[in-house]
Amino acid sequence: MVGFHLDEEGHWVAELECGHGQHVRHQPPMVWRPWVRTEAGRASRLGQTLDCVRCDREEVNAEGEGEEDEGTRRRD
Ligand SMILES: [Zn+2]
Repeated sequence: MVGFHLDEEGHWVAELECGHGQHVRHQPPMVWRPWVRTEAGRASRLGQTLDCVRCDREEVNAEGEGEEDEGTRRRD
């Protein structure tokens, strides 16, 4: 995480190293991030890594497509 900003709805968005943004809402009991509500808490999280949902999704898609291609090639 390299920074934080508020979106238009007032939710905190973590700015990730990859350039993507990810919501870091505090929504108990599902999402428990009390630190996001305080400036000190957010500052303490800077430099830590947060799994990027968008990057993860792209990786999964790429892997799935790769396996499919390989299978097709083998059958040919
Ligand atoms: Zn990303």
